[in-house]
Amino acid sequence: MRTWRAERLGKLPPYLFVEIDRAKQAAIEAGRDVIDFGVGDPDRPTPKFIVERMCDAVRDPANHRYPLGRGKRTFRRTVAAFFERRFGVTLDPEKEIGALLGSKEGIGHFAAAMLNPGEVALVPDPGYPVYISGAVFSEAAYHRMPLRVERGFLPDLSAIPADILRRAKVLWLNYPNNPTAACAPMSFFEEALAFARKHDLLIAQDAAYSETYYEDPPPSILQLPGAKERCVEFHSLSKTFNMTGWRIGFSAGNAVAVTALADVKNNLDSGVFGAVQDAAIAGLENMHHPEVRGILDTYRERRDALVSGLKEIGWEVNYPKATFYLWAKCPKGAASMDAAKRILAEANVVVIPGVGFGTCGEGFVRFALTVETPRIREAVSRLGRITW
Ligand SMILES: *Cc1c(COP(=O)(O)O)cnc(C)c1O
Repeated sequence: MRTWRAERLGKLPPYLFVEIDRAKQAAIEAGRDVIDFGVGDPDRPTPKFIVERMCDAVRDPANHRYPLGRGKRTFRRTVAAFFERRFGVTLDPEKEIGALLGSKEGIGHFAAAMLNPGEVALVPDPGYPVYISGAVFSEAAYHRMPLRVERGFLPDLSAIPADILRRAKVLWLNYPNNPTAACAPMSFFEEALAFARKHDLLIAQDAAYSETYYEDPPPSILQLPGAKERCVEFHSLSKTFNMTGWRIGFSAGNAVAVTALADVKNNLDSGVFGAVQDAAIAGLENMHHPEVRGILDTYRERRDALVSGLKEIGWEVNYPKATFYLWAKCPKGAASMDAAKRILAEANVVVIPGVGFGTCGEGFVRFALTVETPRIREAVSRLGRITW
C-alpha cells in the first residue's frame, strides 16, 4: 500500500517534548500535584471590556458574512493609529497592514508567500519552531543562526556561511525573544538592516512580545529610516491581551510582503471573524486600560518571585526585561533534557528543556510565568530540595 502521509511532514525537526509531555501526563494521572511552567499560554482570562465588545460584535449581522482577506478597514486603521502612537511609525492601512489568524498563521504561511524552493530562510536557534515549519512546507531551505548568551542572544550575522547567504532571502528575527527573553537594542536592528541591504535580504521580525515588557518599551524595526523597503513585522494580540484562543494578529511593513501574504491567505482562508477584529480594536485602542496594565503587573510580580527565589537556591538567573519567560541556565551544567526530567520527577514541576528549541538551547530550561505567585513560591521551595 502507498504511503498516504506526505514526506514533507517527516522533514519537520523531531518534536523533542514528547517524553516530557508523557511524563507530565503520567504525573497528573497519578494524582501528583504538578506545577506547570511549560506552556507559553496566559493562564488569566481576556480583559472584560474586550469580551464585552466581542459579545456586541457577534450580534452585528455585518460580522456574519465572509470577512475581507486583509482585515476590516477599521481594524487596519486602528493598527495604523496604534503603530503611530506606540512607535512613531506611519503605516498605510491599505498596503502595509494585514490581519492574520494569529501571528503563527502568518509566520507559517510567510514562506509560501516569499520563498521559492531551495531559497533559504535564516532562523534563530534556539527559536520558535514555526519559522522552520513554514520553510519545510514550502520546500524552502533553512539555516539556523546560533543565539548565544555571550552575544546577548543576538545572532552573529557575520558568521553565516557565504554559500548559505547567496541562497538566503528571508532573515527571521524575534525580539523580545522566545525562548531566551532577550531584547534587541535599536543598534542591532540597524546592523541587521545594513546586513540585509548588503545581501539583498528581507527581514521578518516576530514582535509577538513587543507589548510584554517590564522596562523600556521594546522598539519596532520599522522605526529605522527606510526599513519598510525590506522589513515586515509580525504582531500578535495573543500575549498582550491574554487572548491566545481568539486568533488574531497582523503583519506590518513592506507592502510587497504584506500583499504576498494576503494573496496566500486569500487562497487558503477567508480572513479573521469580523467580531474578533472588533474586539481587537477595543484592545488596541485601550492599551492603558487598568485591566491591560494589570496583565503586565501580574507577570512582573511572578517574574520577581521566580527570579529572586531561584537566586536564593543558587540558580544563575537574570531578571528578563520582556516576555513572560525565564530562560535559566541548568544547575551545575546539567543537560537540559536531564534537568527537565529530574525537575519533573523530583519536584513535580514542569519546565521546557532548552534543546527542544534547537541545539543551541542546550544547557537551559524555560519557565513560562503562567503560574500564580504562591504556586511559584511552592515550586521554588521544591526545586531547592533537589541536589544537583
Ligand atoms: C506566541 C507566539 C507567537 C504567535 O502567537 P499567535 O497566538 O499565533 O498570535 C508568535 N511568535 C512567538 C515567538 C510566540 O511565542
